[in-house]
Formats: sequence, C-alpha cells, structure tokens
Amino acid sequence: MKKEFKINTNIKLKKSHVCGSEVWEIKKIGEDSKIKIYPYSNLSDYELQCVKCKRNIKMNYQEILIKIK
Ligand SMILES: [Zn+2]
Repeated sequence: MKKEFKINTNIKLKKSHVCGSEVWEIKKIGEDSKIKIYPYSNLSDYELQCVKCKRNIKMNYQEILIKIK
C-alpha cells in the first residue's frame, strides 16, 4: 500500500539537518497525491520545513520513502 503524507504533520529523516534536527514538517504535498494517474511521478514536489531552523527543502515522494526513519 502506498504510504501517504499529510500537510502539517511531522516526519523524521534518517539523516539530521545541519542544524542538528531530524524532524521536518510537511508544508506542501506533491502532485502525486492529487493526480492518482501518476502515483510514482518524479515531478512530485514535497516541501519540508525543518522544525528547528525553519529552512525549507524540496523532495519527491521516492526520496522521502528512502530517507524517512
Ligand atoms: Zn534545520
């Protein structure tokens, strides 16, 4: 089953950020959550924000699956 991520929830990544935090808040959900025809599209952008230093990064769905704790 496909793992789903929701906006405003926190996820933990295996590798911690430069600021030392490993917790990220999901700010934007990738297109693959909206367009079910392309569930594994690389075009999907997820925006994550570091809860400690508030820096935003972009990641696609596969990257999150690999990096999530
Ligand atoms: Zn950070």
